Amino acid sequence: MVIDAAGKLTRFGNLAESPQFGIQFYEPEPRGDVMDFWVFPDGYGGAVSIEGGRSNACFLIKKAALPNYLEKAEKVTGPVAYRSAESDFISIGDAAGMIDPFCGEGMHHALHTGQIAAASVIRGIENRWSYLRMRHHYESERNRHWGWKKAMARAARYALNHPKLVNAVLRYNAAWLIDSFWGNEFRRQTRK
Ligand SMILES: Cc1cc2nc3c(=O)[nH]c(=O)nc-3n(C[C@H](O)[C@H](O)[C@H](O)COP(=O)(O)OP(=O)(O)OC[C@H]3O[C@@H](n4cnc5c(N)ncnc54)[C@H](O)[C@@H]3O)c2cc1C
Repeated sequence: MVIDAAGKLTRFGNLAESPQFGIQFYEPEPRGDVMDFWVFPDGYGGAVSIEGGRSNACFLIKKAALPNYLEKAEKVTGPVAYRSAESDFISIGDAAGMIDPFCGEGMHHALHTGQIAAASVIRGIENRWSYLRMRHHYESERNRHWGWKKAMARAARYALNHPKLVNAVLRYNAAWLIDSFWGNEFRRQTRK
């Protein structure tokens, strides 16, 4: 049973790379109990307080501007790859197409699609399905749970290059925008 969990640069499927790289660095002082977030021409990112009175900053930077940030970066990763072309295999996490880091959901997506895949495989083995049928079952379950969020992330990526549009939506209905990205998760956690 092959399950592709090889991450954003998997060789099992043809991922569409995006000319963006992630950079990460620590700063020696904390930033209180809020997450600061910046959107600027070279990219976007945020910083939060972490243990030891420090803060951790992560940014997504356009490839062309990357050299300007290398001195500051402690870690660089990429290129990120968002869209997966059709894969012949059950692919989970980033191998199934990255959720934009903007959503802060990459790890949730990786763990959850892993669970969905396991459930499809168990069901398939119990019912003597072919691998293809298990894959179709898995893909339809994954789309049911993650299709909307991926569509929102695609829209957000487009919007980040159009700050006027983002500002207009924020002015019109900021609560809707925030709820679309993180609302389900908040509702789930509140119910617990
Ligand atoms: C800049 C940036 C910021 C992010 N911020 C957040 C955030 O705030 N919150 C969040 O939830 N997510 C965030 N993410 C996304 C998150 O890191 C990923 O979505 C998540 O790690 C995906 O998990 P994965 O298991 O699919 O892939 P990975 O974590 O990439 O794991 C894949 C593993 O497979 C290994 N591998 C690949 N090929 C082979 C091979 N041939 N043989 C053996 N091993 C192999 C790799 O070495 C790797 O260890 C961010 C990502 C970026 C780039």
